[in-house]
Amino acid sequence: MSTEEILKEVAAEVSTCTKCELCKGRTKSVPGEGNLHARIMFIGEGPGFHEDRQGRPFVGPAGQFLEELLASINLKRADVFITNVVKCRPPGNRDPLPAEINACNDYLERQIAAINPQAIVTLGRFSMAKFFGGEKISAIHGRARKIDGRICIAMYHPAAGLHQQSLKDTIRSDFRKIPQMIVDAERQSEEGHTKTESSKMKEEPPEQLALF
Ligand code: URA
Ligand code: SF4
Repeated sequence: MSTEEILKEVAAEVSTCTKCELCKGRTKSVPGEGNLHARIMFIGEGPGFHEDRQGRPFVGPAGQFLEELLASINLKRADVFITNVVKCRPPGNRDPLPAEINACNDYLERQIAAINPQAIVTLGRFSMAKFFGGEKISAIHGRARKIDGRICIAMYHPAAGLHQQSLKDTIRSDFRKIPQMIVDAERQSEEGHTKTESSKMKEEPPEQLALF
């Protein structure tokens, strides 16, 4: 199946999904949207009020801030793929429960596999937990790690910056590091290949740059 077919299939399944309790409160499911061939995929938490109404991710105030952040690195929504760990709105915007995230995980996995992005940017602690385990967002925001050959970058959730100026500035500066982190990671993996292919004479540790 093509990327397009897989994404359509996931969206269709999500729209009638009853695998967790969140199906009961949804107006529209929010499978995610964007470029089928995106190099960067953004993964948020779950739909809020506006998203549930429109069936589209990040269309409320947090979405406006996300668009500003994307513009700061010369990207538009249409350049990237945007989705969430749960595809239906948690009542009253409560945190998604572990069981709900688990129930919804297969859709996210299929989206990641189909798009095969070079980088995944986690927005907030729920998507971060999927890729970074028990790390603390305050410790690892704005940093990247290579997971299964892909760069994963942890970011605060844009909504966290809406009411707190200092966090907003932190998010803006973390975001501006994304392009360079991707370039650095690419270079590191190229150097890694060359080293293994040529010889292991040099014992110097690989340059870590922004990766950890
Ligand atoms: N917050 C999220 O985590 N996802 C959305 O789609 C909107 C707000
Ligand atoms: Fe299904 Fe995910 Fe919606 Fe739960 S949140 S009902 S698992 S699509």
